[in-house]
Order: sequence, then structure tokens, then C-alpha cells
Amino acid sequence: MTALTLSNVGKSFGSVEVLKDINLTVEDGEFVVFVGPSGCGKSTLLRVIAGLEDATTGTVMIDDDVVNVVPPAKRGIAMVFQSYALYPHLSVRDNMGLGLKQEKQPKALIDERVGKAIQMLDLAPYVDRLPSDLSGGQRQRVAIGRAIVREPKLFLFDEPLSNLDAALRMNTRIEIAELHRNLSASMIYVTHDQTEAMTLADKIVVLRDGCVEQVGSPMELYNNPANRFVAGFLGSPAMNFLERAPLNVPEGGAIGIRPEYLSLTEKGRIKGVVSHVERLGGDTNLMVKTDEDEAVTVRLFGQNETAVGQSVELDFEDEKSFVFDDKQQRFFA
Ligand code: ADP
Ligand code: MG
Repeated sequence: MTALTLSNVGKSFGSVEVLKDINLTVEDGEFVVFVGPSGCGKSTLLRVIAGLEDATTGTVMIDDDVVNVVPPAKRGIAMVFQSYALYPHLSVRDNMGLGLKQEKQPKALIDERVGKAIQMLDLAPYVDRLPSDLSGGQRQRVAIGRAIVREPKLFLFDEPLSNLDAALRMNTRIEIAELHRNLSASMIYVTHDQTEAMTLADKIVVLRDGCVEQVGSPMELYNNPANRFVAGFLGSPAMNFLERAPLNVPEGGAIGIRPEYLSLTEKGRIKGVVSHVERLGGDTNLMVKTDEDEAVTVRLFGQNETAVGQSVELDFEDEKSFVFDDKQQRFFA
């Protein structure tokens, strides 16, 4: 079944159109990630789904019901924010149970659901603590727990990991993926981080300037981006775009080559000088300034002795490259 259907959804604040004609479905149990640069409308779209903002145009359907005028609490959704939004004077246990208590659910049910969530999120040692006595990661787990106990049909996450440091972000990312597997609930997850999008999503929705640029599985978008924006947004280091000869570039367009598909060779079509080297241990990234004065990044597996200032020649398999036209769309000869 389809958990969420957006049809022609638009949102304006005054005369500013923030979302334009969004059409989208989320299937039951699907993990959908909205990704795009800051300001593209991700949070606004999530808030329209949650009912915290009204859609200016179009319809929002949850299961088979149009919910445009249904208040947030009646939509069967739970939202987790970047800012955690915990009550500072309530313990972990009480923060997690508060929503159910406000719904006047029986104490036994609240205890059971909170107990289950505490187990699932490894929060047992902290149940009596106040939020101020928790780390950022623990606070975010409490916020997630508060969503879980409501047993929503649809979870909405708005950049939940943005306030965490890199190591914790990775751990929590894995926990959220496990949570999704265990709950088999539908989830929509908003992020500006392409790594989170690639690693978590069944389906990625790439947004730009309030429009959907492309929808697909992570590997569909990585291997077959519809346009230069999607090609450049997913992947790290980002795809290289070469706009000048000697490559066969359409007028005003570009050739896109991912850093891992460029290799050092004796005689290649791209010649240049190494301007910077990043030695990551497992990988080596070479930044090369080409003879055409373009910058390209080459990702080499493992360790490599190439040094700054060295002249290099690079090449790639044509099947592994992408051609974009002067409108930044994929060009097929
Ligand atoms: P994102 O979450 O992708 O960073 P947002 O959805 O928060 O982007 O914002 C999208 C655009 O809508 C931004 O340009 C923002 O300034 C504007 N916006 C968001 N909320 C409001 C509001 N309440 N009033 C006016 N403009 C808003
Ligand atoms: Mg946002």
C-alpha cells in the first residue's frame, strides 16, 4: 500500500514560492530521503506532510485519506527534529512517555511502549536522567524514542544528526537504519548530507529550489543522474565536469567523470600537473590542474606516491562518463 501521496503540492509564503508542483509517493515500509542544498525547501515539505504548514496548492494523502485539513496530531505521524526539542525538566522516561500521557493512554500501555523503546535504543542506564545530563547522541536517541512510542504510520526526520560529531553521526546513522529494519515503518528523512542520503535511502528525492530534480534508488541516481545538478550533488569527492577540449564536449555543455573512474596512464586524453594530494590511507585523492586550466579530482584506491608538482596523464572509459548539454541535462548522442 501507499503510505503517502503528494499530488501537485505547492507552498508559498506570501509571494515567495518555496515548493513547486511536488508529486511523490512513499510506499509502506519505504525509507525515503529528501536531499538537497540548504534552503531548497526540504523542511517546508516535511512540515506540509506533518501538517505544521498548510499546502498552498495540491493534496496530501496519508494511506487513502486526504489530510490537508487534518491537524498534525491526527495524521498518525511522528516527527524528530535536529534540535531534539526535549523538555528540560522531565527525565528521559517521562520525555518519552509524555505524548501518550497527554493522549490519556493507560499507564500500563505507556510503561510497556516506553520500556520497549528504551531497550531498542539502549537507553536503560539513563532513564532517570534529565536531558541536560545526556550527550548529544543520547538526547537524539530520546527524541527518536519519543517518536517510536507513538507507533506512528509514518516517521518524519528533519536533519536529526546535524548536531552530532562525525563519529557519532555514523553510529547513529547505522542505528536509524537498524531501527527502520526492526520497525518496518515508513520513514521520510531530510538531510543536506549526500552520504546520509546514499546510505539510508530506499528512495532518494533530490530537491532544488523547491522542485524535485530526480527520484530513484541511490545507485540509480549515482549511475544514471538525469542532470548535472544530481550528478554533482551525489558522490564524494564530487563528479568532475570538464568543459573544454581536447574532450568531445557539446557546445556549452560538459563531460562528467567521477573521480574513481579516472586513472593515471602513460598516455591519456587529459594532461596536467598535480596541485594537491590528500592521503587518506585507504584512498588517495589527487587534485590535478589540467593543461586546459580545469581542476579535476582523481580518486585512487589505496596509497599512491604521486606528489604535488608532478606532471600526469589521465584517462577514462567513455561508457563511465556522462555528457551534459548546455541546459545541464544529460545528452545522448
Ligand atoms: P531547507 O530545509 O531545505 O534548508 P526550508 O524548507 O527551511 O529549506 O526553506 C525553504 C525556503 O523557504 C527558504 O528560502 C526559507 O527562507 C523559506 N521559508 C521557510 N519558512 C518560511 C516562512 N515561515 N516564511 C517565509 N519564508 C520561509
Ligand atoms: Mg531544513
